[in-house]
Amino acid sequence: MPILRDDPKEAEIVSHRLMLRAGLIRQSSAGIYSWLPMGFRVLQKIEQIVREEQDRAGAIEMLMPTIQSADLWRESGRYDDYGEEMLRISDRHERDMLYGPTNEELITEIFRNEVHSYRDLPRNLYHIQWKFRDEIRPRFGVMRGREFLMKDAYSFDLTAEDAKRSYNKMFVAYLRTFERMGLKSIPMAADTGPIGGDLSHEFIILAETGESEVFCHADLVELTAPGDDVDFESDLTAIMEQWTSKYAATDEKHDAARFEKEVAAEKRLSARGIEVGHIFFFGTKYTEPMKCQVQGKEGELITVQCGSYGIGVSRLVAAIIEASHDDAGIIWPASVAPYLVGLINLKTGDAETDAACEELYGKLKQAGIEVLYDDTDERAGAKFAAMDLIGLPWQLIVGPKGLKQGEIELKDRRSGDRESLKPDAALQRLIGA
Ligand code: ATP
Ligand code: MG
Repeated sequence: MPILRDDPKEAEIVSHRLMLRAGLIRQSSAGIYSWLPMGFRVLQKIEQIVREEQDRAGAIEMLMPTIQSADLWRESGRYDDYGEEMLRISDRHERDMLYGPTNEELITEIFRNEVHSYRDLPRNLYHIQWKFRDEIRPRFGVMRGREFLMKDAYSFDLTAEDAKRSYNKMFVAYLRTFERMGLKSIPMAADTGPIGGDLSHEFIILAETGESEVFCHADLVELTAPGDDVDFESDLTAIMEQWTSKYAATDEKHDAARFEKEVAAEKRLSARGIEVGHIFFFGTKYTEPMKCQVQGKEGELITVQCGSYGIGVSRLVAAIIEASHDDAGIIWPASVAPYLVGLINLKTGDAETDAACEELYGKLKQAGIEVLYDDTDERAGAKFAAMDLIGLPWQLIVGPKGLKQGEIELKDRRSGDRESLKPDAALQRLIGA
C-alpha cells in the first residue's frame, strides 16, 4: 500500500492524483499501468458487477485472446481502416498479428464456425479482456490509457427487429450496472466511429473533467435505473421510451436547433461527461463481408444481425473517483470498495489495544466483512490521513482511552460522523451495512 503524501506532478485530474496517492496504480509506460493490490481489488469489484448484470440480461461469458491475426481484419476490411491506433505486431514467421482494440471480427469468426442454425439464435457472448489502442494522447491515468480493460459483448440475431431487442437488453443492463456502482449514467445518442452502424448510445457520467461534451434534458439526471425485478425477456420498450424520448446527445450527434426546439431553456443541460459505456447496432456490417450465416426454417441462408456493447471497466475506477471524493481522498461506494472497513489500531504494541483489535478483526472476517487492519507503527494522525485517503466506507478506531470505557469509534467516511460504541454494537452496525 504505497501511499504518497504529496500530489504527483504528472496528474492533471483528481482521480489520477488520488489513484497514484492512494497506491492503486503505477505507470509502467505511457498509458500502461500496473494495478497494485488495492487498485486491483476495486477493478475486480467493478468487473464482478459488470459480469452479474451481463449474466442477468442473458449474455454468456467467454474469453478471447488479446492477440489476433491480421487476416480476420483483412476480411472485414478494417485492417487498413483502423489506422495508427492499432498496435501491429509480426511474429517469428513474419505473420501479421495485432493486439486487439476490439473483437467484432474474432467473435464473428468463432460464431460462423460454430453456429449454423436459426434454432441457436438469439445469442449474446461477452468477455472481459484487456484491449490495446495506441491513443495519440494517453492521459488522465486509466481514464484514457493505451492498455485498458473492457467488457465487450456481441449479440447475434436473425432479424433486425430481434437485434433491437438484444440492444434494449444491454441498454437496460447498462443502466443497472452503473447505478450499482453509485453512478448516475445518462444514455446519449452517439456517433459510431470505426465500429460502424447507425443506432448507438454512449453512457455518460457527468463530470467537469470529462472529455466528452454533451447536451441533454435535465430531467434525465433524475431518473432511476430499473430494479432487480426487471424481466429481461419481457418487452423493454417502455423503459427505452422513458430513457430515450428526451433529448440527449454527445457533441458529434448534437443538433443545436433541435435541442432548442425540444427542450425548454431552463431544462437545457450542456455539460462535460465521461463515456463509460457504448452500445452499437450495426446489422450485417461484419457478418456480410465475413459470410457469417445461419440456416433458417426453410433451409435458406440468413446473414446474421449483430450489435456490440462495450464497458470501460478500468476507466470506471477513475470515473467513480471523479464522482465520489473530497479534499481528504477517495470515498468508495460500498459496492466497489476494496474493503468495507478499515480497522485502525491507535497504539500498536499496547497489549490491551492489540487484543481488542485482533478480536474485532477475527469477528469481522468471520462475518464475511472485508476488513483492512492498520497495525503499523505510524502516528495516529498519519493513520487517519491514510485511511481517509484510501476511502473505505467505514473506519473502526480502537485506542486505549476508549477501551477504558469499553468503547471504540465508528466513523462514516462519507459524512465524517464519528460515534462511540461498544465493540459488539459496532460490529452489528457493520453487519447490517
Ligand atoms: P473514446 O471516445 O473515449 O476514445 P471509444 O468510443 O473509442 O472511446 P469504444 O470503442 O466505444 O471507445 O469502447 C468501449 C468503452 O471502452 C468506452 O465507452 C470507454 O469506456 C472504454 N475505452 C475506450 N477507449 C479507452 C481508453 N483509451 N482507455 C480507457 N477506456 C477506454
Ligand atoms: Mg465510444
